[in-house]
Amino acid sequence: MTSAHKRLLLWDIDGTLVNTGHAGVHSLMRIVRERFSANDDLRDIEIAGKTDRAIVSDILEKYGEPTTDENIRAFAADYIAGLRDELPRRNGKVLPGVLDILNRTSRRADIVLGLLTGNLHEGAKLKLEHYGLWHFFEFGAFADDHHDRNELGAFARRRAQERHGHEFDAAQIDVIGDTGHDIACGKAFGARTIAVATGGWSRERLAAQQPDFLLDDLSNIAEVANDLGWFAF
Ligand SMILES: [Mg+2]
Repeated sequence: MTSAHKRLLLWDIDGTLVNTGHAGVHSLMRIVRERFSANDDLRDIEIAGKTDRAIVSDILEKYGEPTTDENIRAFAADYIAGLRDELPRRNGKVLPGVLDILNRTSRRADIVLGLLTGNLHEGAKLKLEHYGLWHFFEFGAFADDHHDRNELGAFARRRAQERHGHEFDAAQIDVIGDTGHDIACGKAFGARTIAVATGGWSRERLAAQQPDFLLDDLSNIAEVANDLGWFAF
């Protein structure tokens, strides 16, 4: 099989691969407490499916701080430091079926595993290293690349091309995620979209966004394995 026939699987992290027990939100809450002396649960800030840069920008705006690159960078650095502390404190887990799928697909010569996530690169690495999953992924597109998640597909495709020496057609790419933002981001460049209801969005809410595949969790992958073509059962 030539590399031109490889499939590229682009994975979201939070609510799709792992549930960190809200480690990220706790880190953000701690910075808000220290900087703005506010006990804020950040419930009015949309977090699931958004990029870290967009989330930080929304928080700064809420507290009347200018959303300059410098302010966003400084807040993000504090967020990463806090995340390092919070990950071992929270009762998080790898989501059902994830380890099995990553083990199987990573053994396949015709499948490439990458990340397509709203996390900053450093946050993604901290989270996935904590749960022993970081080594599965060759590369990724992150919040560092762009604040708008819908722009991240282009970065992931460019990195895949750099590493594999050819373009990946949209038809050869799957985007897997737990929110409508993941589905929109995949549809934005014509990828196949696989939604999994293990995160913040219900199955019904995801269905309304019309993903190509919709699963309760990734341990149900056998239901659609033949259609997906990731591996045979
Ligand atoms: Mg997610």
